[in-house]
Amino acid sequence: KLGNDFENFKTWDKENYFHPWEGLKVQGAGKADRTFSEYAEGIYVYDEHGNKVIDGPGGMWCMQLGYGNAEIADAMAAQARKMAYCSPFSEATSVSAEFAHAIAERAPGDLNRVYFTTGGSTAVDTAIRFVHFRNNLLGKPAKKRIITRAHAYHGGTYLTASLSGKPSERQWFDTDQVLPHFLPDVNAFRRPAGMSIEAFLDEKVADLENAILELGADNAAAFIAEPVLGSGGVIVPPAGYHKRCLEVCRKHDVLYISDEVVTGFGRLGHWFASEELFGITPDIITCAKGLTSGYAPMGAAIFSDRLFKDIEGDVSKDVYFTSGYTYSGHPVCAAAGLKNIEIFERDGILEHVRKVTPHFQKRLHQMLELPLIVDVRGMGLVGCIECSLTREGQASAGIDATIGAVIDARCQELGLMVRPYGNMAIFSPPLVITEAQIDDMFDMLTEGVQRAT
Ligand code: PLP
Repeated sequence: KLGNDFENFKTWDKENYFHPWEGLKVQGAGKADRTFSEYAEGIYVYDEHGNKVIDGPGGMWCMQLGYGNAEIADAMAAQARKMAYCSPFSEATSVSAEFAHAIAERAPGDLNRVYFTTGGSTAVDTAIRFVHFRNNLLGKPAKKRIITRAHAYHGGTYLTASLSGKPSERQWFDTDQVLPHFLPDVNAFRRPAGMSIEAFLDEKVADLENAILELGADNAAAFIAEPVLGSGGVIVPPAGYHKRCLEVCRKHDVLYISDEVVTGFGRLGHWFASEELFGITPDIITCAKGLTSGYAPMGAAIFSDRLFKDIEGDVSKDVYFTSGYTYSGHPVCAAAGLKNIEIFERDGILEHVRKVTPHFQKRLHQMLELPLIVDVRGMGLVGCIECSLTREGQASAGIDATIGAVIDARCQELGLMVRPYGNMAIFSPPLVITEAQIDDMFDMLTEGVQRAT
C-alpha cells in the first residue's frame, strides 16, 4: 500500500536519522527496522501496516488535545502565511505578546514574566542561567549550587542533564561538572519498612534543609523539583512535601523552581499544579509539552515579578541577560499555543480531566491485583505500574529488569502503546480520552501484563 519508496524511508531512517535516545544496537544498516507511525487521530496512532493503537504516552506526555486537531493546524497555517517569523531580540509581534499575556494570566501569583524557549530543556536551562545571572548581579557570586533530586528529569542540554537524577543521564556524560546536589529518593514505596508516611515526609524535608546547611546558604541558589516526578517513575510526593520544602527554601533564601513541563497545561486537571494542587507559588515555573498540545516545539520559563525587579532595577548598568534563541516566541508556535488555550477553555478540557481522573485512577489502582505489579502511582491523567523483579516463591530475580519493554510489546499487539522505563510502564494519554477509552486502555494493559509474564 505504501509503495516502494517506503523501503527507502526505512533505510534513510536507519542510516541518516540519528534519533534521540538512540540505542547503539538500533542505529545503522542491517539493524532492525523501526515501525513507522504514519497517521493519527484523537487518541489513536496508526502504523505503516494500518494497525491502530491507543497512544498511552500521549506522544511524549504532550498531546493534550489529541491528534488531527484541524483548528490548531489552521491557526498555525494562517500565522505562517501572515507573519512566519519575527526576531525575538529586536522586534515584537502581536501573537507572541498575546500568548505571553495568556500564560501570565493563568500562572500563579506574580509569575508574570514569560521567557519563551524551544522546549522544556531550554526552559529549565534558561531558569538556571537566570538564577546564576541574578545572583551575580546581586553581588552573590558564590550562590550558584542547584539542589535537585534522585530520579528527576530536567532535560537534555548539558546543564539540564546535569540536574537530572536518572542513572541513564549520568552514565556516559560528565554531568557532575556543574555541581548539582542530589537529594535522595522521595518515593514513599521505597521507604524503610515500618516507617510512617509522616516520618518519611519529615525525613524528605530534612534532606532538603540538611543539603542547604551542608552547602551553606551562601552557596545554595535554588531547589528544582517536578510537582509529580514524571519520567523517573511517576513519583507523587507525600502530602505537604512541596509546601514544606518551599518554607525551607524561603527560610534560607533559596529559590524554588517548579518544573511543570509534564504537570502543566492540564495533565493534572489545572493549568499549573504548583498552586492549585500543591499550594505553592514558586519563584520560577518551567513548562513546555502541553503548552502547544505537542503541535509546535515551544517552552517557557515563567519568572516572578519579584525576581525580575532584581535584574531590571539598576538601569545605569548596561547589562543584558545574554541568553536567547532564534525561535523564542516563534509566531507559528505562539499561534498554536493560543488556539490550544482557546480550545481548552471552550471545551472545558481542565474540567474534563478532573471528571475522568477518578475513573482513571481507580482502574490504575486495580492493576495492583495482578501478582506481577508491586506498586502503582499516579495523579490526574498520569499513571505508572511498577513490576516485581522476583517471581512468587523465588528468592532471586526471576524477571527481567526491562519487563516494561516486554509489557509495551505485548500491549502493542493488543492495540495499546505504553512508555517502558525499566521494570515500569508509564502512561499519560491525551487529555481528551473518554471513560470508555480509559476502560479500553486498562483492559488491554491488564491483558498485556498477563501476557508479559
Ligand atoms: N522537564 C521535565 C519534567 C520533563 O519531563 C522534560 C521532558 O520530558 C523536560 C524537562 C525536557 O523537555 P524537552 O524534552 O521538551 O526539552
